[in-house]
Amino acid sequence: MSVNKENYARIKQELDKSNTTLVAVSKIKPASDIQKLYDLGQRDFGENYVQELVEKQAQLPTDIRWHFIGHLQSNKVKYIAPFVHLIHGVTSGSTLKEISKQAQKNNREIDCLLQVHIAQEETKFGFDATEIEAILSQNEHPHANVIGLMGMASFSDDLTQVRGEFAALKKLFDKATSIKPEFTTLSMGMSGDYKLAVEEGSTMVRIGSLLFGNR
Ligand SMILES: *Cc1c(COP(=O)(O)O)cnc(C)c1O
Repeated sequence: MSVNKENYARIKQELDKSNTTLVAVSKIKPASDIQKLYDLGQRDFGENYVQELVEKQAQLPTDIRWHFIGHLQSNKVKYIAPFVHLIHGVTSGSTLKEISKQAQKNNREIDCLLQVHIAQEETKFGFDATEIEAILSQNEHPHANVIGLMGMASFSDDLTQVRGEFAALKKLFDKATSIKPEFTTLSMGMSGDYKLAVEEGSTMVRIGSLLFGNR
């Protein structure tokens, strides 16, 4: 099975009600699958690997908004800087600095989100609340435009826990918005938990397997 059109129509309808942006996560899936969703009207796509993103971007329509949602190493920023629409997972000050530098080289600003560590699991990258406030109160990276936060909840069947993690991220987002009124975007929610995330105030969800099948 390639693209699940029924799921796409249903999810799109649900998200439109709450004005939530859908990022279709296409990692590991072929460009032909992306083209199928594009033909249904989808324009925001998310990728996790720099080389794969660069290859797909070259083959697919130029009005696609490409989201980088993986873990971004500073030395690879330059490959996506000319075209990337939004970088979701900024996890260090040095990456932010490099994004600003490469954006300037390309005569543009690059929008990005700071990744917040909300899950119980040790393995998830991200800043904590204090670090976020420190970064936002500085203004050292003029071409890296921080427009919001991104987080991943624990992979858990405990819905109370997952909901609590999303709620904590939303609270942090509201606090950050009081420092930076230009904040617009709270990226939280995946195939397994996007409904909870939307209920807790997500403005952007990243959905892969429900649209493209299991990886
Ligand atoms: C793969 C991935 C997703 C999509 O996951 P699904 O469970 O397939 O919806 C969302 N966000 C990030 C950061 C990912 O790496």
